Amino acid sequence: MAKEYNIGIDIGGTNIKIALVDTKGKIAFSESASTRAEMGYEFTIKNIINLIKDSLTKSEVSIEQIGGIGVGCPGQIDSENGIVRALPNIPGWVNVPLAKILMDEFGLPTKIDNDVRVATLGEYKFGAGKGYQNIICITVGTGIGSGIIINGQLVRGTNMAAGELGHVIVQEHNGEICGCGNTGCVEAVASGPAIVKQAELYLMTGKSTKFKELAAGSPITPEIVAEAAILGDGVALRIFERTGYWIGIALSSVVNLLNPEVIIIGGGVAQAGDILFDPIRETINKRALKISADSVKVISAQLGNSAGVVGASLLTQV
Ligand SMILES: [Zn+2]
Repeated sequence: MAKEYNIGIDIGGTNIKIALVDTKGKIAFSESASTRAEMGYEFTIKNIINLIKDSLTKSEVSIEQIGGIGVGCPGQIDSENGIVRALPNIPGWVNVPLAKILMDEFGLPTKIDNDVRVATLGEYKFGAGKGYQNIICITVGTGIGSGIIINGQLVRGTNMAAGELGHVIVQEHNGEICGCGNTGCVEAVASGPAIVKQAELYLMTGKSTKFKELAAGSPITPEIVAEAAILGDGVALRIFERTGYWIGIALSSVVNLLNPEVIIIGGGVAQAGDILFDPIRETINKRALKISADSVKVISAQLGNSAGVVGASLLTQV
């Protein structure tokens, strides 16, 4: 029987998403379940197995029609050996041979990789990166991550740790403390939590700000600050200008180093659109070498929340 579909799975801290994706990148069926990280990895894996069986039953697709299974995981992955080394936000996952477990269960080729790299693959084949061969795909959310495709190939690095854009140092002296233990990383000054921190600081100092009104007593989120900026609030705009500036500084080095055709930006904070993208573009234009800056486009990701499952479905196909 022809292999019409591949299974793509996206493991997140809150939800596991699964999709049957056809060879043109179209999602034929999708479903999700709660990760229940607190129950341990065995429970999550059992859930994944049940989700796969369930999806096949509900979609009336037989296992013979499936080419392979791909899984994107939020952490350090040994993609060559199919082992989850560690997931910083999902405790208990240490050296778990996830690919082998799924392969033994279903008898299908199975590959796993880091979630940002998987999303990059999705954007490259079926999203904003279609038609390009040299791509940097970055996600700006709780952290800042990136996937790199050079000459049509994913770059993983010696220890499969390449693409840690969030820990590119942008402040040499007196930098903010980063979750990695270093100081001055771009993630410490330009991620979702950094935006919230700045907003709260403005509130504490009594600056009149729109986001206080928009939050209406709830905690401030990056989305609220973005909404305020779009409504023209000066303080919120300044926060996004600064955020875009720092990301632009980090990307200027990336542009000089790798000379990409496009930089694709996705993730929760990127929903803010041009209020974030414009200062990023401006900074790259000012600070990167002219030859590389002139040719690089900074564009928005296209696949949104589906990038993870669509990209994962491609893992056994590349
Ligand atoms: Zn760091």
